[in-house]
Amino acid sequence: MTQNQQDLLGLPRRRLAEVLAPFIDRPYRTDQIYRALYERGAGEIGSITELGKELRAELAERFTIGLPEVATRHLSADGTEKFLFRLADGATIEAVDIPDGRRRTLCISSQAGCALTCRFCVTGYWGGGRDLTAGEIVAQVLAVGKQRRESGGGLNLVFMGMGEPLLNLGALGDALEILTEQISWRRITVSTAGVIPGIEELAGWRKRPRLAISLHAPDDDRRSRIMPINRRYPLADLLAALRRYPLDRRERLTFEYLLIRDFNDAPADADALVRLLSGLQAKVNLIPLNPDPVLDESMKRPRRTVVTAFRDRLTSKGMTATVRKQRGDDVSAACGQLRAPGREPRGFRRSNLSL
Ligand code: SAH
Repeated sequence: MTQNQQDLLGLPRRRLAEVLAPFIDRPYRTDQIYRALYERGAGEIGSITELGKELRAELAERFTIGLPEVATRHLSADGTEKFLFRLADGATIEAVDIPDGRRRTLCISSQAGCALTCRFCVTGYWGGGRDLTAGEIVAQVLAVGKQRRESGGGLNLVFMGMGEPLLNLGALGDALEILTEQISWRRITVSTAGVIPGIEELAGWRKRPRLAISLHAPDDDRRSRIMPINRRYPLADLLAALRRYPLDRRERLTFEYLLIRDFNDAPADADALVRLLSGLQAKVNLIPLNPDPVLDESMKRPRRTVVTAFRDRLTSKGMTATVRKQRGDDVSAACGQLRAPGREPRGFRRSNLSL
């Protein structure tokens, strides 16, 4: 890309029309280009053959389509596929395609790396990165969709890959404006570690994706030990913001709760969790921890019977609770295992590690 070329990928319809206006004479040209970008996943202006040769040449001088290359793909035994993308500046991100019956879920990254340093998450261990552009977010969906066309069926999007989506709300908003032309808002979930200003901004959107909150502990003491962000946005403030959050009549907030052996997996913790969430339209998604060699050794997964007992305790108190199936772990595509290879790990501050 030369310096004066502008990237078209990531521009929502109205902004695309604005930047193209000086070069095209008929409005339907914008629609043709929009469809080529976001329905066909065109990687070059030259391939938009709906446009005349001259117009393509003229546009190609000024614009580019920054579709990141898929550097590698890893197919798991369970059908889950991990895609590693290399971005224009050399940064790498991952997206995971998880088939589930006739549906598929794409797990998308919002940042290259993550600054939040949650103790259980490999992405944070590898250090903070940068915000993705709207184009880089949309491109993950386009690239995976293109390469897995055979599976058809419905698509769910979850922003549970690398990064904290609510720290990149501008790009997230543009990307969702584009993606929701084809995927319903209801099929898109944004997961946050609890960035309160982001939750409040999202609350003001005219249309919103589903919201999931990575909770992982029922009290401030333990939550702060595994999620440093809790010191900035403690539980009482977080839950107050969530109580104000507008929900449709049957919509529920998803609370992700990582189960860590002998840390937050006791029956009393399940009781505390139910109390904490009382009065909220909520459901709990339990995630048995995926261990990783770079994590502290106290980060262990509870035994299966403990996981089931925790779930049953929640349900017996009237809380909807499910256990997240582990997928793609043989290719390091499972939750918390996404990393940016080729970077020097930053590591965690040792002094804070012990549970
Ligand atoms: N920053 C956002 C989006 C990333 S989501 C957030 O925190 O919600 C990543 C999901 O994977 C979160 O629910 C997180 O708790 C989960 N996760 C992270 N590390 C994990 C691990 N080692 N095992 C299982 N799940 C993990």
